[in-house]
Amino acid sequence: MKRTTVSCLKPLSVIIFTAALAACSSEVKEEASVSTNNSSDINASVEKAPANPAQDIIKSANDDRDYQLVTLDNGVRVVLISDPDADKAAASIYVGTGSWSDPKGREGMAHFLEHMLLFMKSEKYPELGGFREYVKAQGGSMNGTTYGEKTNYYFEVNAEGLAEGLDRLAWAVGKSILENEYVDKERNSVDSEFRAGFTRPYWRSNVVHGETSNPAHPYGHFGTGNIDTLNNDDGVSLLKDLEVFYRDYYVGSNMTVAVYGQESLAELETMAKTSLAAIPAGVAAEKPWDDSISPFTEGQQGVQINIKTLQDRNTLSLEFNLPASRENFAAKPVVYLKKIFSSERKGTLYSALKEEGLINSLSAYGWDSDNSFTDFGISMGLTEKGAQQTDRIGAIVFDFIDLVKKDGIKKELFDEYGQIARLFFDSADQARPVDHVNELAYNLQEYPVKNLLNVDVAWERYDEALIRSYLNEMTVDNLRMIVSGKDVSVDKEAPHYGTRYSMAPLTETQQQLFADSAIHSSLSLPALNPYAPKNLELIAENEQSKEVPSQLINEPGLRVWHKSDQTFNAPKADVRLAYSTPLSDSSVKNSVTFTLFSELIGQVLNEPLYPAREAGLGYSVYRQGTTDLAIQLSGFSDKQPLLLDTIVKALEEQAFTEQDFARVKEAYAKNLENFRLSSPDDQAWSAFNEVVFPGTYSAVEQAEALKAVSLADVQAFGEAFLKKAHLDVLVHGNLSAAQTESMARKAAAVVKEPGEHYRTRLYDLSSMPTVSLALDIDHSDSTSFLYYQAQDESLETRTGLALIDDMISGPYFRELRTNQQLGYIVWSSPRRLNDRPGLVFMVQSTNTAPEEIKKRSLALFAQQREVIEAMDAQAFADLKETLIKDTMKKDTGLTKRTNRFWWNIVGEKLDFADRDHFVAAAKLLTKEKVLALYDKYLLADGALSLEVKSFGKNHKAEKPDASVENVVKCATAECLDAMDVPTT
Ligand SMILES: [Zn+2]
Repeated sequence: MKRTTVSCLKPLSVIIFTAALAACSSEVKEEASVSTNNSSDINASVEKAPANPAQDIIKSANDDRDYQLVTLDNGVRVVLISDPDADKAAASIYVGTGSWSDPKGREGMAHFLEHMLLFMKSEKYPELGGFREYVKAQGGSMNGTTYGEKTNYYFEVNAEGLAEGLDRLAWAVGKSILENEYVDKERNSVDSEFRAGFTRPYWRSNVVHGETSNPAHPYGHFGTGNIDTLNNDDGVSLLKDLEVFYRDYYVGSNMTVAVYGQESLAELETMAKTSLAAIPAGVAAEKPWDDSISPFTEGQQGVQINIKTLQDRNTLSLEFNLPASRENFAAKPVVYLKKIFSSERKGTLYSALKEEGLINSLSAYGWDSDNSFTDFGISMGLTEKGAQQTDRIGAIVFDFIDLVKKDGIKKELFDEYGQIARLFFDSADQARPVDHVNELAYNLQEYPVKNLLNVDVAWERYDEALIRSYLNEMTVDNLRMIVSGKDVSVDKEAPHYGTRYSMAPLTETQQQLFADSAIHSSLSLPALNPYAPKNLELIAENEQSKEVPSQLINEPGLRVWHKSDQTFNAPKADVRLAYSTPLSDSSVKNSVTFTLFSELIGQVLNEPLYPAREAGLGYSVYRQGTTDLAIQLSGFSDKQPLLLDTIVKALEEQAFTEQDFARVKEAYAKNLENFRLSSPDDQAWSAFNEVVFPGTYSAVEQAEALKAVSLADVQAFGEAFLKKAHLDVLVHGNLSAAQTESMARKAAAVVKEPGEHYRTRLYDLSSMPTVSLALDIDHSDSTSFLYYQAQDESLETRTGLALIDDMISGPYFRELRTNQQLGYIVWSSPRRLNDRPGLVFMVQSTNTAPEEIKKRSLALFAQQREVIEAMDAQAFADLKETLIKDTMKKDTGLTKRTNRFWWNIVGEKLDFADRDHFVAAAKLLTKEKVLALYDKYLLADGALSLEVKSFGKNHKAEKPDASVENVVKCATAECLDAMDVPTT
């Protein structure tokens, strides 16, 4: 998933079209929220929960959990989920108000309040940042997200930690203490978050969507906020405004909650009633806009909008303003159109545009923003050629719209989409508790109670006229044609992010071209799916006594493991293969050629296998580490042997065309070129990887080498690759040992000669002076990234460093982010590379230079040593217990378990007992041992293995530190090789 930092308002492009909003803690890197969450006035759209409606909720055949709905005296509606087997518990609160309700001149207020509630103090729990630290100590995580019309708060913890976690969450959301001191501090954090978005394409174009929308509608609202909109010059008004917003909207009837735990429904009900009573009763203030107002004025439709990007990446989106669709969720008019327009089967829109060399990617999105409209769009990543021909692409899209109108609304297709969706639903792995509660708390705001669980698969009512009415709105007059690229012509500048753009009515020529049918005659509509699974029976599980895979084949060049597994009661399997050779990490040219090779395999498979993906057979072909070509299959097992045949055949034939090659190479080159504009923390992270792994190369090195690579080079590489390679195979789930052996033999047959097994190598930096890397980045923020590599691979060191991270990451965040306000992105994490344990610390800061960040990090390490030393035996034992529980958490789905087995294979832990060994070692840890490790790795002189620094605009003068002694100045592979740095 693409990682983005924040938030708000609206979908934009292929990659981020489902991304919404502000996730605000950055303990580990934030993930873009994937959701369709946008909202509506809850009071208007929600059915009141009946007294005991649990039996009405439509459940998956695979779901044996109990559900219950409760409406509390203060108006809060709660769905309880009891799962006696759960080892994790979670809760989620949705507030039916978001940034669209920010007061005038106080943009970012909803988002700012979300920060204040999550990271500060509540009346019952008045210690600063206590909620976050409690959750962390219970082996969990928490966060918040501000959307346009909703705000979400949630956490996940070990099952035993639910009661206090829920209580802390309820008090944080219901009765936080808002103090002027922290109001004044935390607005800096929001500002840092805003600034971190400066170079992010999502935010840069989002603001243009806002500028070109109706000012009377909140669609274009600036929801993140910054130091100006959250101005507090008089020292009092920000707190006052915050208190008003809090009082107006944070009331019971505006909130829905989901609670997931191992307790019985009755116990959960008591828990919910007790804790959630902290939320005040009341009715929320009116929202400050009118749903009947259109998000676009007349002059903002039938237009072309150009957006100038920083990165060299061309995209085209055709957006249409369609009617609201949420009420018709059972007829799925928008989802149906999304599926037709985004199909990648042969002959479809995507296929035709790609065949002409115009696009690299295509997606359709239907963003259902509130009760008044749906923003429907077709978004495409363009090739150089496509960037020159956006009008022609537009014309072809309109041809396709005509074709769909004529022949594309079909009951058979609707039924097939529904049937496959229900199949997924009935055999789905259980979602993580935290994902489950977020989905349910949201759905409780928006949908009838009986559809809380199945709203996405409720293809219940085929309504041709309704689908047609949506299609009929996809006209030239209603079009917003958005062209983004580095070289588009622009004449205006949007506020906040300074994005350059222009907006002009579509020309006569464009209008005629779009209206004129039959530009492209070879388009066709998707047919019925040949891959829809037929045989859904479960095979007999013949190895029930065995917990782990057994090895079926162990020969030179081929190792095969198998485990049948029906724990999750679904006709599915996960298959992993890795072909390894030393070829790819021997030079930058080989590495680049290998990347092209794996991309091309994926390309040639895309069209023939698209229907398979639609039918629930997942696959991917990718590079694993520096040495492996990996293949991964998941989903329904019925047709997996056939699917693997198709992939292996593509690997053998390598039927790459010049056109495929040119497109893949161009896209790769662009990605490399654009990398220098990615965020400072991403660049620091990437530089870290380049230094520690031999055979990993910087974007600049790759770009240079890529220029010289031809199709003939890729073919020669492919041939050499298959000449001699080693293959590892794991088959897990609803496939038999005989099927496994047959699949593995076929996959091995494409390799001519058995090769040895190669592993990605790692530099051992632990016994040499600190490697110090200064990056030259064009960004206003600075970063400090610190990496401490252990000197050995013992379990004691591994478990000890993991425990140290558990002890230090909370204080690190609280002190450097919340108290010292160094920046928005502050986190630490244990990092095991190959088998070598380590710790990393990352800060990205608007206001502080790298050396100073490091100094403060080291000061915190010193200070925390005393805290650990003073820790009593019980507290230490509790920490160990949390670490152990977290390690042993149960597999929540087949793929999760497959991953665990697979990483044992990749790491050569062939007894599949890695985590058992880890737990056994963790039990033996004593405070003395942990303190000794702490001293050795965090406090001793020279303990720091690698630091990566970048210098924001205010700190450029401090780069680089030529005067620092005992530091390795060069950090390229050549440099380290020349110094004889060993590898593991
Ligand atoms: Zn935030």
